[in-house]
Amino acid sequence: MRRWCPQCQQATDNAPLPEMASEEERLRPLRCGTSLAYCRRLYCLACGHVWTGLELPEQVVESLLARDGELERLRRELAMARLLLSKNQKTLDKPAGDAGPKLRVHHAA
Ligand SMILES: [Zn+2]
Repeated sequence: MRRWCPQCQQATDNAPLPEMASEEERLRPLRCGTSLAYCRRLYCLACGHVWTGLELPEQVVESLLARDGELERLRRELAMARLLLSKNQKTLDKPAGDAGPKLRVHHAA
């Protein structure tokens, strides 16, 4: 069977390895309460790498990829917030009388 070998980083011919587990045992949840993934151990005929492939419904993978994009967006926002916080901290650390902008802190009652 043609699969993407994680070692070769390209599509190669792979052979399924004989499994000791039953078909039922090879169905595993990715996380508690999520769709079950079917695990299959494969052997790459090009490099000999043994790896485990997971079969999932396409919409589950697409949903995971969408979350991945959202996570990347949040990481960028967090990096920007840290940068702004660091700039504000430098402003606050300047000695009194400096003409730099001041950060005003409002405390909620
Ligand atoms: Zn390989």
